[in-house]
Amino acid sequence: MNKKKKGFNTRMIHAGSIHDQFGSAIMPIYQTSTFILRNAKHGADLFAGRDDGFLYTRLSNPTVRSLEEKVTSLENGYAGIATSSGMSAVTTIYITFLNQGDHMISTSSVYGQSRMIMENHFSRFGVEYSYVDTSDTDQITRALKPNTRLLFIETPSNPTIRLTDIRKCAALARKHHLILAVDNTFSSPCLQNPLDLGADVVFHSITKFLNGHADVVGGIIVTKEEKLHHQLRSVMGNMGFCMDPHQAFLALRGIQTLSVRLEKAQENAMKIAGWLEKNKKVAFVRYPGLPSHPQYTLARKQMRGPGSMLSFELKGGFVAGEKVMNRLRLCLLAVSLGGIETLIQHPASMTHAAIPRKERLKAGITDGLVRLSVGLEDAEDIIADLDQAFSAIK
Ligand code: PLP
Repeated sequence: MNKKKKGFNTRMIHAGSIHDQFGSAIMPIYQTSTFILRNAKHGADLFAGRDDGFLYTRLSNPTVRSLEEKVTSLENGYAGIATSSGMSAVTTIYITFLNQGDHMISTSSVYGQSRMIMENHFSRFGVEYSYVDTSDTDQITRALKPNTRLLFIETPSNPTIRLTDIRKCAALARKHHLILAVDNTFSSPCLQNPLDLGADVVFHSITKFLNGHADVVGGIIVTKEEKLHHQLRSVMGNMGFCMDPHQAFLALRGIQTLSVRLEKAQENAMKIAGWLEKNKKVAFVRYPGLPSHPQYTLARKQMRGPGSMLSFELKGGFVAGEKVMNRLRLCLLAVSLGGIETLIQHPASMTHAAIPRKERLKAGITDGLVRLSVGLEDAEDIIADLDQAFSAIK
């Protein structure tokens, strides 16, 4: 199949499909740790990389490869590497592109663990870092050092729904010889393709929109060029950050409905964001589909749709946030996002509670901020649930 000539939905269904000798219509789970070699030369060719067949599942596996090819096609990349989780994708990127003494610049409100492993672990091996508001490109320029090697951004970012201009970052990265890696988890390839905007590497927590059914943890990295792919694949394989064939099977099934799920979730998110914006108990709403979003114009330029992630600030602050969380009946009080069910959480008391308040506020994560991952239920029922939970606050 010519990957780039088919439409997104066609690739979402068919890209990466391997129809085996039994004529399976869908990709089977190749639940095997090892593969039989035809002869000594076949083994030698596999080990030397002259044959890209299958040798050992930590390195590659047919079910996993099918997933890698599908997401690569959706991201318009050269090749993909599936990993055991989104965090093993992040770790693979850090290990591949950062040596002792190197410096990374990243989004201040990047996913908590992406920041935590840098501050707690990579720092132990002499890696330096700066966290800045990457939605302001000047802050990136000011943070540059002679040893900066990696620009690692998340857009829209979590949970502030701030956008970073990928094209501007790509220009900066080219000028200063940096690798630009983009966490595209919040948008999915359905709404945003960072490689087309100049990024070198795009990655996802597959756990979220790509799988979409809250039953898999996984990650994937896609590169624009062959060289970076081989560097990343070597780290993934040697470190054992591989995805399991059963995980890949579930993710393959989930991705096939990505655009249909997102369309409905976006429609719901738009209605809910509009309702929240008019609510007297809400100080502000951050949703890229609302003209009130500070980066509405950038969202329209960079994304094909505003997505289904939004956050809003309750006027009653921290206490109001906790009270509302305790009163919800339909929206599930849970971390994660991008699934068919609506998930809600209060970052100040939950995911970002460990960050000192001053730091948290600096990153835009205010006391009454609530993050909503809008699902596929009826929008009216989600609104009714929020409305009844809001009755707990003034
Ligand atoms: N990136 C973002 C934006 C996330 O939201 C998450 C998880 O919530 C991750 C990365 C890490 O992914 P995982 O939980 O699959 O390891």
